[in-house]
Amino acid sequence: MRQKILVTGGAGFIGSHTCVELLATGYDVVVLDNFSNSKPAVLDRVRQIAGRDVIRYEADLRDRGNLERVFSEHAFSGVLHCAGVKAIDEAQRNPIKYYQHNFEASLALIDAMARHNVRRLVFSSSATVYGESARVPYREEAPLAPNTVYGRSKMMAEEVLHDLVSSDPSWHIAILRYFNPVGAHPSGLIGEDPSGVPSNLMPHICQVAIGKLPELGIFGHDYPTPDGTGVRDYLHVVDLAEGHVKALQYIFNEPGLLTLNLGNGRGYSVLEVVRAFEHAAGSRINYKFAARRAGDLASYYADAARANEVLGWRARRDLTEMCRDAWRWQQQNPNGYE
Ligand code: UDP
Repeated sequence: MRQKILVTGGAGFIGSHTCVELLATGYDVVVLDNFSNSKPAVLDRVRQIAGRDVIRYEADLRDRGNLERVFSEHAFSGVLHCAGVKAIDEAQRNPIKYYQHNFEASLALIDAMARHNVRRLVFSSSATVYGESARVPYREEAPLAPNTVYGRSKMMAEEVLHDLVSSDPSWHIAILRYFNPVGAHPSGLIGEDPSGVPSNLMPHICQVAIGKLPELGIFGHDYPTPDGTGVRDYLHVVDLAEGHVKALQYIFNEPGLLTLNLGNGRGYSVLEVVRAFEHAAGSRINYKFAARRAGDLASYYADAARANEVLGWRARRDLTEMCRDAWRWQQQNPNGYE
């Protein structure tokens, strides 16, 4: 009998890559997704890669009736909670939506888990919980002071998980703080499929390269960084997916709460990413310098030592591989999953 894992948001960019790794490791996977920012076709691609299907439910986590049904129909060994909304600028305009989908939905999920005695949870958090006051490289014990609604919605969910473990030590929880996941599965079958004009750097570059967008605007070139453009810690989404499986396996045996950064441990500037992409794709990327984007920090990256010490995990794929895989996905799917 295989162990069964629930993946919320399993059709999303990170969720889908994580489903592939879970299936490859030998777990059965149940996906719960409201497909608000993803397409059911993603899961057909997951099956194509893994050679096995996931069980799928289309429902919102806040729909208690459906959530109850999922937990009644399956005995889960653990839950990976990847569902959420993540556009930083949209969150500033619509905080209610972000607190509903990132906070209230998390609460509904852990309530259902508690009632069904499923106490093993891996939670998708974000490096944006650190905010301006932390020093780089960010260590997990740095103070949390997110400067955005999105970051606060993730921090609030983290706080609930801390309270949960304090109140009942039989919970096993891992909080994973992602840095900047990019790239795609090397098959080119699954990748990032943002709706509208992509707000993140890598999908924007991909759409310039394929000719869907005329140019990349580089937000700020007067930051106190080596070339003046913003510095972030990019990591390959397959590395990130492997990190989820390792974290899950770790918490199976370890009660309590573990918080880990998942990042490369080094920063790359926007211009470095552009150059690496040009090299991988063999074409030039049109760009122009534009004003800084509100809320952006100059530079941050992870101290990724703890994930290596605790899980034996580190990001193994370099920037060239991230660009090559992102570009393969874009070329094979110029219009995403449509
Ligand atoms: N960026 C940019 N142009 C874009 C999108 C992003 O110059 O069209 C920059 C952004 O200012 C930041 C970096 O690329 O320095 C990564 O941004 P992204 O939105 O991908 O991730 P974030 O770190 O903001 O979550």
